Amino acid sequence: MARIITLPGDGIGPEVTAAAVEVLQALRDDLTFEEHLIGGASIDAHGTALTDDVLAAARASDAVLLGAVGGPKWDTTDPDRPRPEQGLLGLRRELDLYANLRPVRPSRALLDASPLRREVIEGTDLVVVRELTGGIYFGEILTDNMFGDILSDEAAMLTGSIGMLPSASVGAPGTPGMFEPVHGSAPDIAGRGIANPLAMFLSAAMMLRHGLGFENEAAALESAVDRALENGLRTHDLGARRPPSRP
Ligand code: NAD
Repeated sequence: MARIITLPGDGIGPEVTAAAVEVLQALRDDLTFEEHLIGGASIDAHGTALTDDVLAAARASDAVLLGAVGGPKWDTTDPDRPRPEQGLLGLRRELDLYANLRPVRPSRALLDASPLRREVIEGTDLVVVRELTGGIYFGEILTDNMFGDILSDEAAMLTGSIGMLPSASVGAPGTPGMFEPVHGSAPDIAGRGIANPLAMFLSAAMMLRHGLGFENEAAALESAVDRALENGLRTHDLGARRPPSRP
C-alpha cells in the first residue's frame, strides 16, 4: 500500500490534481491518497502556506503529488505577509529535496505544435537537472536553481506548451520525493475546465517510476498520453480550435 499526499494548491492545481488521482486509481487499486492544503489555500485557512501538520504528513508519506501554488490574491510586497511559494520552498527544504529533474521529450504528435521547425526538435530527449538548494553539480544539463527554471521554461517551446512539462524533486534514497508540473497555477484559465492536465499526468508517471518503483504503470501512463495526442485530443494551449465552454 503506497501512501500519497496530494497538495492541489491554487488556481488550476486542484483541477489537474483531481484528474491525475483518477488516472492513478485506474492504474493501481493499492494507492491511498490524503489531500492537504498548501500555498494560497493554506494561507486562507491557516495563515501560513505550509502547516506543521502538512509537513509531518508529507514526511510520513511515500510520495507527494503537488499541483501549483500562487495567484494574484496572495501577491504581496510586504515581507511580513505569508506568500504561497513559501509552502513549496518549505517542503523542498524540509524534505531535503535537492535535485529537480525536468525531462523534455516532445511527443511525436506535437512536433508541429512548437514554434520551432519540426526537423530542429525531432528526436529531442533531454533532462534539465536543476539544483534546488544552492551551487552547481550533477550530469546532463547542470544548472543552479534560477537558471534551471529559465532553461526549462524555454524548453516548453520544444514540447508545444508549458502544460506538457513534468518534474520530480528528489532527495536521499528512501525519502519521499515531490512530483509536480513545471507550470504555475495559471489564474487566467483557472476554474474553466480547460487546463492541460498532461504535465500533471506525466508528473504522476514520474512519481510511479521514481517515487514508488512502479515502472510498468509509469510506462503505461506515458504511452496513454502519447496515444491520446496521436488520436488528436488537444487542449486549447496545444491548439484546440475552440476552448470548451465552462462545465
Ligand atoms: P503559469 O505557468 O501559471 O502560466 C503561464 C501561461 O501558461 C498562462 O497563460 C497559463 O494559462 C498557461 N498555462 C500554464 N499551465 C497551463 C496548463 N496546464 N494548461 C494550459 N495552459 C497553461 O505561470 P505565471 O502566469 O507566471 O504564474 C501564475 C502563478 O503561478 C503565479 O502566482 C506564480 O507565482 C505561480 N507559479 C507557481 C509555480 C508552482 O507552483 N510550481 C510555478 C510557476 C509559477
